[in-house]
Amino acid sequence: MQPKIRFDIITLFPEACLPYTEASILKRAKEALLIEVYTHQLRDFALDKHKTVDDTPYGGGAGMVLKVEPLVACLEHVIALAPEIARDKTRVIVTSAKGEFYTQRHAERLASQYERIVFVCGRYEGIDQRFIDHCVDEEFSIGEYVLTGGELPALIMLDSMTRLVPGVLGNEESSVYESYSEEGGREHPQYTKPEVYRDWSVPSILLSGNHKAIDDWRTENRKPL
Ligand code: SAM
Repeated sequence: MQPKIRFDIITLFPEACLPYTEASILKRAKEALLIEVYTHQLRDFALDKHKTVDDTPYGGGAGMVLKVEPLVACLEHVIALAPEIARDKTRVIVTSAKGEFYTQRHAERLASQYERIVFVCGRYEGIDQRFIDHCVDEEFSIGEYVLTGGELPALIMLDSMTRLVPGVLGNEESSVYESYSEEGGREHPQYTKPEVYRDWSVPSILLSGNHKAIDDWRTENRKPL
């Protein structure tokens, strides 16, 4: 069976990526062939015997920049690994602190329209702009802060898309009324047993068995976006 989304992660730290996909819902999604996840060591595509993937920035300044040649070579290798997936069913995403903010709307669009998502994880001061200009479809930031690398952002995006693949979530975990779904708003507060802990009580309406009143309470208690 063809997996619904193939994820490829280009990174200098593959060991930081796969463990997260080996637990819970992502693990189940992989086992059910609803997603496939592969990591690719960028350093394997360095051109010199020292396996150099970064160099100093033109114009001067602190830090190092990921070089364009290994990135292009690695991306071309990754694309060729699954020739059955058309290029227009593939999205190449670069993680970047200065990119467009990633939202649930992006997750919905990407999960429903593409069969392969390639994440390119930056490190150091970032990535040679020529790679971004010529090889990348989307440049996403996950928030207004700077991380050491793009691995966590890639996993966050991968996780959010995987939840939306049909069959990944069981009914009991359905994403229909979740925060930021098309229905809007942020999810109502949730409670579980016991009814009273210390003197902290569950709102009595949730114990009433009156489904209409419970639905109304939940709607009233969803924070607007
Ligand atoms: N010099 C860059 C700047 O000021 O925008 C920051 C580079 S950061 C230390 C290294 C890499 O981490 C980036 O190339 C990017 O891939 C990733 N990264 C850091 N913060 C991120 C964020 N908020 N969203 C997405 N990726 C981020």
